[in-house]
Amino acid sequence: MKAFTYAKARDVADAVGSVGSRPGATFIAGGTDLLNLMKDGAQIHDQLIDINGLPLAGITQEQGVVKIGGLARMGDVAAHPLIRRTFPVLSEALLASASPQVRNMAAIGGNLLQRTRCGYFRDVGSPCNKRAPGSGCSAIGGENRGHAVLGGSESCIAVQPSDLAVALLALDATVVATGPSGERRIPFDEFYLLPGNSPDRETVLGHGDLIVGVEIPTSALALRSRYLKLRDRATFEFAVVSVAAALNLRGQVVQDVRLTFGGVATKPWRSREAEAALRGRALTEASITDAGQAAVAGAVAREHNAFKIELLRRALSVIVKDLGGVR
Ligand code: SF4
Repeated sequence: MKAFTYAKARDVADAVGSVGSRPGATFIAGGTDLLNLMKDGAQIHDQLIDINGLPLAGITQEQGVVKIGGLARMGDVAAHPLIRRTFPVLSEALLASASPQVRNMAAIGGNLLQRTRCGYFRDVGSPCNKRAPGSGCSAIGGENRGHAVLGGSESCIAVQPSDLAVALLALDATVVATGPSGERRIPFDEFYLLPGNSPDRETVLGHGDLIVGVEIPTSALALRSRYLKLRDRATFEFAVVSVAAALNLRGQVVQDVRLTFGGVATKPWRSREAEAALRGRALTEASITDAGQAAVAGAVAREHNAFKIELLRRALSVIVKDLGGVR
């Protein structure tokens, strides 16, 4: 690991100023991903600004909006009665993430900014456009079983690995960030970027921008929501395929629906096409099959990951049937 200096932020303005004024600086909260990246040399920083002392760990509700501070720990959010009652999908996605030890350390803001698990990204001896722009993508012609079938480009097909992000996308959340140019409120749908020709840029945040929290509107849709995560082992593992689903039904007819996916795309993926295949229709084998087909219509398989397309279709079918009580 390269040498770096370390300082504790006095307040949010101090944190943003300290990182924003120094290109090699970054924030550290739980550090559960950042320190591994720095040890591997996949990310190099010459200064860490510790934000753990900032008052950004609250979970509150105001006028139909639940606010979760950027420093709230994954485990605390998952276990909070308000979250469990109001957003089951969020609690389930967090409990399906990492391990209890990591969930006790890792903060919500850091979770959203965790980097891809693509092995070539973390191996500094391999060409990787995300880590070293212009060097090439080792995964496209290499080991790509875990890679994306949606949202990829010829520059990068790495999966964004956050379960939390998939749930927040289904819940129409907003990211609240503050930085050198002031506060910004970013609809979750616009927070992550597709890789295109610049996979090193993953979100709309700029250098020195700090996630101070996320805001989630309460809704009837959110009350009936679930997260299904398929992975290679039962715990401490990233998704091969995951689906967050939320349903608002009148009888068996779908009034509204959200379907978002993880493990299959270069950013948390919402399928409006799959939602449209269900909205206004009765939940039946036929409508659910149509939604699954719509979800994968634009999928592009690589040598080792074609199985994800069928797995996504089946996962969507299982979770929608479960939520809708379809036997
Ligand atoms: Fe790098 Fe993306 Fe290619 Fe992985 S898929 S090697 S992260 S450019």
